[in-house]
Amino acid sequence: MNTENVTRREFLQKTSAGMGAAMVAAGTMGFPAISRAADSGKTVNFALAGLGGLSTNQIAPALQKTKHAKLAGIITGTPAKAEKWKAQYNIPDKNIYNYDNMSALADNPDIDVVYVVTPNGLHKEHTLKAAKAGKHVLSEKPMANSSKDCEAMIKACDKAGVKLAVGYRCQFEPHSLECIRMSREKEFGDIKIIEAGFGFRIGDPNQWRLKATLAGGGALMDVGVYALQACRFLTGEEPVQVSAIETKTDFKKFAEVDESITWQMTFPSGVIAYCSTSYNVNGINRYTAYADKGWYGLDPAYSYGGIKGETSKGPISFDQIDQFAAEMDDFAQCILQDRQSKVSGEEGLRDLLVVEGIYKSIKSGKTIKLS
Ligand code: NAD
Repeated sequence: MNTENVTRREFLQKTSAGMGAAMVAAGTMGFPAISRAADSGKTVNFALAGLGGLSTNQIAPALQKTKHAKLAGIITGTPAKAEKWKAQYNIPDKNIYNYDNMSALADNPDIDVVYVVTPNGLHKEHTLKAAKAGKHVLSEKPMANSSKDCEAMIKACDKAGVKLAVGYRCQFEPHSLECIRMSREKEFGDIKIIEAGFGFRIGDPNQWRLKATLAGGGALMDVGVYALQACRFLTGEEPVQVSAIETKTDFKKFAEVDESITWQMTFPSGVIAYCSTSYNVNGINRYTAYADKGWYGLDPAYSYGGIKGETSKGPISFDQIDQFAAEMDDFAQCILQDRQSKVSGEEGLRDLLVVEGIYKSIKSGKTIKLS
């Protein structure tokens, strides 16, 4: 299929439908063994690619709490990290890889999933390598630098007959799920307006998050995507048009990527979303949906913990959970039960299409229609 010649919508439909056929083909056409877990119902074995802040402080600790997922391997370009992780997590030498020998994963049935936790601009390369080796892939957000790269990742995983999901941990968080339930069941009537924003003050001016090739963009790609996705999941719709404005105060630090963006999205049902993201201020971390008969929302909405919900009728109260553990347990169960993740590659692609519409609007100064 030549994706250049089909619409994005057709591509999304074809790739989802193609998944089943690819899974059948994988069993009969000599692809690498996908995993033992799918056969036996055992725990699903994860290998983490990229042992930076997120893997060290969140994902590896979460993998000590998971019921269906286990930390079994690592992929790192730094030998000293390999030694440290090997000792700390009892990882056997045979399950330790670097970015250049990932093809050898094909011969290792003790790894079922590669969790790609490298900078955004490398997600595609590492996903393609993992898929080619017959491993399921969980890619961190944002899924990739462009919708074209997302499409390539979806196609590669389809072709290899492996599952692909994106690390959208908020979609497993109980307060977020309650807001989505209230939207679906119209507990406060039809939503009219959503306000959503996520930002933080970024430090080190030399980090990869400020380099276009590795980050794909600035605040919008890194954290604005949470606000964007909250609007998509609350409405259950895809935006039909977007208009955006970028503001820059530090042209040196943000020479390659965006510093602050505000954008407006319109949804088919008429819902309007006002969103913002910034690398220049702490404390914006929220969304509110204003509906016919009241309002509801979260603040903070996207943190690792301490999520707080409020409605015009009173608080939303659930236990805090480890969102990464829930996300990985769900992906493990998707593999064990052979079902598609609700945070599939297609969801990552949909977010990137809107992100690209936002950048296009900033560049052109026009409202962009999204198809
Ligand atoms: P980080 O800088 O702490 O770690 C990145 C890792 O990638 C490092 O171990 C680094 O050595 C490795 N790497 C491999 N090739 C590299 C290269 N060419 N240049 C730079 N580093 C390279 O970053 P992080 O905060 O762990 O983020 C990793 C990914 O996780 C990003 O995609 C980010 O958006 C995502 N993330 C998601 C969440 C979440 O809540 N889901 C939170 C933070 C980060």
